[in-house]
Amino acid sequence: MKSLREKARRYCWIPHIPPDEYDPIVIARADGCNYWDMDGKEYIDAVSGIAVVNYGHNNRRIIEAVKEQLDQVTFSYPSQATTETTLKLLEKLMSLLPDSLGEGKVMLLNSGSEANDFALRAARLHHVAKGDKGKYRFIGRWISYHGATSCLSCTGHPLRRWPFEPQLLNFPMVEPPYCYRCPWKKEYPECDMECALAVEKCIKRSDPDTIAGFICEVIGGMSGGFLVPPREYYPMVKEVCEKYNVLFVDDEVINGLGRTGKMWAFQHYDFVPDIVTTAKGLGGGVVPISAMIASSKVIEPIYETNTRFDLYVTYGSNPVACSAALAGIEVLLQDNLVEKAASLGEYMLRKLKALEPDHKIIGDIRGKGLSIGVELVKDKSTKGMFKDQETPGKEVQQRAWEKGVRILGTKGPGGGLMSDFLALFPPLIISHRQIDKIVMVIDEALTEVERTL
Ligand code: PMP
Repeated sequence: MKSLREKARRYCWIPHIPPDEYDPIVIARADGCNYWDMDGKEYIDAVSGIAVVNYGHNNRRIIEAVKEQLDQVTFSYPSQATTETTLKLLEKLMSLLPDSLGEGKVMLLNSGSEANDFALRAARLHHVAKGDKGKYRFIGRWISYHGATSCLSCTGHPLRRWPFEPQLLNFPMVEPPYCYRCPWKKEYPECDMECALAVEKCIKRSDPDTIAGFICEVIGGMSGGFLVPPREYYPMVKEVCEKYNVLFVDDEVINGLGRTGKMWAFQHYDFVPDIVTTAKGLGGGVVPISAMIASSKVIEPIYETNTRFDLYVTYGSNPVACSAALAGIEVLLQDNLVEKAASLGEYMLRKLKALEPDHKIIGDIRGKGLSIGVELVKDKSTKGMFKDQETPGKEVQQRAWEKGVRILGTKGPGGGLMSDFLALFPPLIISHRQIDKIVMVIDEALTEVERTL
């Protein structure tokens, strides 16, 4: 195992980790919520890879479907051919979407970044088709990540942006609906929903005739700070978007397909976005695949005016990836995993919240369903953040790994926006007993780290 780790250090370029700190677990075998390293050490995977293996590692039903597809056809060039599997997936995916989204069109891609890039393109094309050619900019939100490709321009994550700032497009950013550290120092519900009003201010100040869309994770995942905005926020933001002819793009790369305890995170709110993207869980950790769904409202002017763009990706709609996604959705529906994510998520959140009084570095615990974050603070009363060189999240992560639970502990997005945090995204098939173990290990790891501070 040591020599394999040395090889990993020698060859892999993981851009955000210095080579001498790169110390990956070398996985030999995986099953359900567990995996084993080369030395036979067992781990509970409390982050589903990274919010990907939602149906468990090596889900047999997905593997069997993929094997069957491998024996039939492994590639079809999307502009000239398709497969029955691909069409079944498209039909199934659309049947899960309400209203004008379900009546729209899907584009299948390979990653979350690509799905978001094409969401921005769909929005841009919609405006071009309607003759609003000046609309090309997108409003993003601080504390966000939408991908490593051109959608980095609407990503509010200073640590991920900094070397590339000169290459990014001039897209405006708004403050997030972050009640624990309200940017306006107000308290819900007496806050007049400043965070929602900020979106209108931003559109007005940025020249509405240039704004094509607003992009956010409706419920934040890891890079979205696990933010769960108040119920009024999205209906207010959507109304503003409609007023200024701005399309609402909902990035459900992490939180789509049941993770938050509803099929789509936006269903926790009384509104429907214009475009939705989803990725990680879609391929079940078996084959990469993502989807961008544009509602009929977005698509109709494009089709009516026959406005086209000559861009797609070679492996988009790959039949093997489609077979994994189709089988995954069947598992999700047959095993009632959306409902399970809701009740297991409540259970896990409750158990984690019970730890809060005993730990001086737990600032806030938030999330929805099985998408949960624990924000770590230096000082509870002032909500003081850790310095750049302090890494309590990473230290808690390390100790949890040693105890056989894989969590993710990391710094916030930088720029003084948020403190360090722990991320939890267990597979939707996790058991109560496994949740108990995860929470117990986090409790122990926090206690050990706190002793060193
Ligand atoms: N959007 C969100 C909310 C994400 O969390 C991520 C990845 N962490 C992406 C987009 C990009 O997805 P991918 O890494 O598959 O390109």
